[in-house]
Amino acid sequence: MKASPDVTVVGAGPVGLLLAAELALQGVRTTVLERLTARADTIKAQMISGRTYQMLAMRGLGPAIDAASEEEADRLSWRPRGSTGHFAGLFKLDGLPLVMLSQQALERILEARALELGAEIRRGAEVTELGSGFVVGCDGGRSTVRGLAGFDFPGTNATLTGYQAVADLEGDLPDGWHRTPTGVHAHGPLKGRVMLIEYDGPPATREVTRESFEAALRRVSGRDVRIKRIHTATVWTDNTRQATTYRRGDVLLAGDAAHVHSPFGGQGLNLGLQDAFNLGWKLATGDSALIDTYTAERHPVAARVLRNTLAQVALTRPDPRSRELHALVGDLLDLPEVRSRISAMVQGTDIRYETGCAHPLAGTFVPGLDLADGKGTTTVVDGLEAVVRPDGHISHIGE
Ligand SMILES: Cc1cc2nc3c(=O)[nH]c(=O)nc-3n(C[C@H](O)[C@H](O)[C@H](O)COP(=O)(O)OP(=O)(O)OC[C@H]3O[C@@H](n4cnc5c(N)ncnc54)[C@H](O)[C@@H]3O)c2cc1C
Repeated sequence: MKASPDVTVVGAGPVGLLLAAELALQGVRTTVLERLTARADTIKAQMISGRTYQMLAMRGLGPAIDAASEEEADRLSWRPRGSTGHFAGLFKLDGLPLVMLSQQALERILEARALELGAEIRRGAEVTELGSGFVVGCDGGRSTVRGLAGFDFPGTNATLTGYQAVADLEGDLPDGWHRTPTGVHAHGPLKGRVMLIEYDGPPATREVTRESFEAALRRVSGRDVRIKRIHTATVWTDNTRQATTYRRGDVLLAGDAAHVHSPFGGQGLNLGLQDAFNLGWKLATGDSALIDTYTAERHPVAARVLRNTLAQVALTRPDPRSRELHALVGDLLDLPEVRSRISAMVQGTDIRYETGCAHPLAGTFVPGLDLADGKGTTTVVDGLEAVVRPDGHISHIGE
């Protein structure tokens, strides 16, 4: 299929759907082309960062996210909020709590919003060549758009095989993260959710069978654990790459299409959603210089995530030297200054765009300062929470 209208978004993953909603909110005729005929139900991200939550809440999506998160918490027996995440399996971070929410539930919310605002979503539409108008590749790590438009995508190759699955287990597998002489295994917070890492090269295949997963789990954990049934499973790795620019003429990239890295610290989805938020309103203006600030602002943010995920891979390796380095970093994280710096980096709360203005708040996310409006108090973020009417009008609290 060939791309056309005002803006074509390729890929109806979370990033493409949010971008479509942002463009439609600005009145841009937007079409999303998605090769799959139905949403994939493979397990991927299960949480969004507190900062991403605040960003989506500014678009009035807070109540929908809260409801979905609480529904999943009841059904899957996990806490909707509380954890502040980890760095290389070191659960010592502080800062904004994560919001537990499956990627599928988030995609449903974003798709409903994009459609409500007038975006068109065509499923079963695989893009194989580029058309006229702006085209944004939100088509994931193996982006076709990136290849067709000739973007460079340098980086480092895969060195490990990671698995994430929800399975019925027989035998004793402890909760939490565990490093062993052969890798890492983790269990929870959802019952039967297992994460495994073997540091012996990239995946030989993307297919996960009950037998192959059970064998890997036994190798890594050294325990007599059996897999009775796999409900969902994915294989992942630490291929780490970033497009050198996010724009070539009328073609742009966002989300995994622009950057790939291992899922350590749960940063990829947040990074991509924040790309979409940064790009949407700029692209809607059609102002070329403003659109160029998208690469200028977002490229350094992803570059830093790539670096910290590479560091996490190195720290979690099972060899004796890496184990000592991991222990040392664990000790350093007990120092408040180190802890707050690493927490802010993983949670993306210290992002500051270059504005040319020296004020310490210039270029940062609006802080949650208290606001008094004569009727009571609220915070800046809550005060900006927008209610989007079907005609696209945004009314702010107090309007
Ligand atoms: C095991 C695992 C765990 C993860 N855990 C976390 C986590 O805890 N926190 C976190 O923040 N991130 C996590 N991530 C990362 C997160 O899932 C990704 O960053 C996120 O899915 C990227 O979204 P996207 O919209 O850019 O791309 P995708 O979700 O890959 O969506 C791309 C879409 O484009 C479509 N498409 C592809 N090619 C074409 C084409 N030619 N034409 C039309 N459509 C096309 C695809 O079908 C797909 O629907 C995890 C990833 C994995 C694999």
